[in-house]
Amino acid sequence: MKPVKSKKTVRVYDPINHELSYRFLDWADDAACKGQPIDTFFLSQGDNKVAVEKARVICRACKVQPDCKEFALANKVVGGIWAGLTTAERRCIIRERTRGKGKL
Ligand code: SF4
Repeated sequence: MKPVKSKKTVRVYDPINHELSYRFLDWADDAACKGQPIDTFFLSQGDNKVAVEKARVICRACKVQPDCKEFALANKVVGGIWAGLTTAERRCIIRERTRGKGKL
C-alpha cells in the first residue's frame, strides 16, 4: 500500500447540505460516505450498535476502505466511524500494532 498522505483538514461537515465532504485527501473522491448525512458517521449518542452497523454497511462496500483505515490510524483520528471502526476499535488496533513493533 502506498504511504498515507496526512493533512490536518480531512472529513468535514458541510452545513449547507448537511452532509460529509472531504478536503485534501486524494483517495476521498471514491469514498462511499461522501454526501451521506453527518450523523451516520459521527454519532451523537455514543457508539450504539445499530447506528455503528448502519455506517459499517456503507464502509463494507467502500473501495477506499484500506486508505481510510490507514489514514485514521496513522493520524489517530478521534471521533466518528472510519473504515467501519469506532474510535475505541481504532485505539485497540493502534495498541496492538505498537505492541507488535516491540516484538522480534
Ligand atoms: S471506509 Fe467508510 S468512512 Fe471510510 S471513506 Fe469509505 S465509507 Fe467513508
